[in-house]
Amino acid sequence: MRILVTGASGQLGCELLPSLEGLGDITGVDREVPDEAGGLLRQDLGDFAAVESLLDTIRPDVIINAAAYTAVDRAEDEPDTAFRINADLPGCLAGWSKRNDALLLHYSTDYVFPGDGGRPYREDDPTGPLNVYGDSKLAGEVAVAASGCHHFVLRTSWVWSGQGNNFLLTMLRLAAERPSLNIVDDQVGCPTWARNLAHVSRRLLEQIPRSSKDGPWGVYHYCDTGVVSWFGFARAIFGAAVEAGFMDQAPALSPVDSSEFPQKAKRPAYSVLDTSRIRDRFDIEPASLEESLSRCLQELSNERK
Ligand code: NDP
Repeated sequence: MRILVTGASGQLGCELLPSLEGLGDITGVDREVPDEAGGLLRQDLGDFAAVESLLDTIRPDVIINAAAYTAVDRAEDEPDTAFRINADLPGCLAGWSKRNDALLLHYSTDYVFPGDGGRPYREDDPTGPLNVYGDSKLAGEVAVAASGCHHFVLRTSWVWSGQGNNFLLTMLRLAAERPSLNIVDDQVGCPTWARNLAHVSRRLLEQIPRSSKDGPWGVYHYCDTGVVSWFGFARAIFGAAVEAGFMDQAPALSPVDSSEFPQKAKRPAYSVLDTSRIRDRFDIEPASLEESLSRCLQELSNERK
């Protein structure tokens, strides 16, 4: 099986490459590829003629699209770029997949929802993004479904990892600079370790016979367990960091309203995803936030020794 992973240098892409080992011939592609990352291809995925030509050369059986424009606030000023990468690129990959009988695994976000619900969002709940990023990701979902290709769209939330640009690493950096931190406490979600999402992606691919004409294609929610605000997430991070010996003492944390940190893009107040569908259909048990943080912080701590 030939597998193409886009966004291979991103948070999720970095975890996908090792997770998929042994499943087939894997090619990773991204805009910026670190010199030491052997075997990755460099390509601007906003150039669709080049993307089609790459696909025609590699002829993947499975395309895993982990590439995305994820700068939520910047997207408000750059809607064209956000839509090109989050909507038109998945549309292009889906069109190629349909014509060539490939399977597309694509990712989307809790930000397709308005965040005013009182229970975890199910896959078929009405969407209603509050910002350009959410709009563009929703348009990507629509484009993938409209193509008629065999596809999974995995919606996830609050992705973090031991590398890249994310809340966990921001907290650890700020804690090294300041004795106390104010953290937003009025937005609630489920932080998800990119590694767990990568493992779930592999599980999906392993369980699906690609020839299946009416496989269980469509949208699925996956997030780790542990519903927290950003404040609660920060508290869990520092608890794990102290326990893993990454730091001696946690900074003092104070909960604040998001109005204290004005941001260009609106965020949903409540964006918990209901994961029953993926659990029932694929027997996938979501990982816990606490265990995931503990493992990741232990790894980061070991790397510093
Ligand atoms: P990242 O931003 O870490 O990775 C995305 C990758 O795509 C980056 O390496 C980025 O490169 C690359 N990319 C963007 N534009 C282009 C381009 N024009 N050409 C080539 N490569 C490009 O995202 P994550 O790994 O965090 O996200 C994975 C998926 O999960 C995405 O679909 C995202 O929407 C979704 N998701 C993410 C959440 C989060 O909190 N991060 C929350 C919910 C869903 P560069 O860095 O150079 O731009």
